[in-house]
Amino acid sequence: MTDTFAAAHFRDDAAARKLIEGIRWPSGPVCPYCGVINHAYPIKKAGWFRCAEKACRKDFTVTMGTVMERSHIPLHKWVIGFYLMNSSKKGISAHQLHRTLGIRYQSAWFMCHRIREAMRSGGLAPLGGSGKVVEADETYYGPVDKSKRRTRTTSGRPFTKKGTHGPANKRPIVALVERGGNVRTFHVPVANQSMVQAICKQNIGRESRLHTDESRLYFGADEIFASHETVKHTADEYVRGDVTTNTVEGYFSIFKRGMRGIYQHCGEKHLHRYLAEFDHRYNHRVALGYSDLDRTFAAIKGAGGKRLTYRQPH
Ligand SMILES: [Zn+2]
Repeated sequence: MTDTFAAAHFRDDAAARKLIEGIRWPSGPVCPYCGVINHAYPIKKAGWFRCAEKACRKDFTVTMGTVMERSHIPLHKWVIGFYLMNSSKKGISAHQLHRTLGIRYQSAWFMCHRIREAMRSGGLAPLGGSGKVVEADETYYGPVDKSKRRTRTTSGRPFTKKGTHGPANKRPIVALVERGGNVRTFHVPVANQSMVQAICKQNIGRESRLHTDESRLYFGADEIFASHETVKHTADEYVRGDVTTNTVEGYFSIFKRGMRGIYQHCGEKHLHRYLAEFDHRYNHRVALGYSDLDRTFAAIKGAGGKRLTYRQPH
């Protein structure tokens, strides 16, 4: 047992700043204005650096250009927030952070969304590769926003139960999981064949083996990838040899349990951020060798270049 919260960066603003500097600037301070690395010196104001001669000479801090910029919350509380969001399997609610950190609910809500944004990864290499298996599947979560709700099916038949039920009025999510590797999820406006296949094409290496259920969404995928193998869920088949979609379904079940248990309400426009949060934890999971702190530091490292301008909590 280690006393995690005894560490200075959880209790002291200056120590938290040092920690964040170490994570974001492993090769010395990076000027957010001109991008020069390790060419700045500390000035009298705590936490501030000045870009040196022959560069832009502007003053900056480690939180500039990050999700923490312009926040009045002390940095050690940010580090605790990052840690709690990363160490609990299903996440942590803004209400809980508000109570734990002793900050206003509104601030806690902003903090939660900013940390989610830091956990979002961008510019990624394709999943899979030669001999590797990628599982793809889709699910539906939560009602779509009222304005987008449909009352008739695409063939013009009215929905039952006031038109709020059925996949057409739920938010479709597509997930790709490299077996033994990373997940990547997408909240899409509609899960149809062209949408799903475009996501597969853009995010999975062509040499990969693709495993899905027998859904028609994946018809033709065998022409794109090394192979396309399916399990027939309608015939109660879930595993055939090494062909299965159990990994991606396991991911969906973690996501849904977390969303129901912790978050309950989630506006559709924020769904992609919640997905980013669950993706980040999955992609830095214990089975891949990451500790709670590794996962936290990876999120802090991702905090740059993503400053948000939120106005109102929902
Ligand atoms: Zn500079």
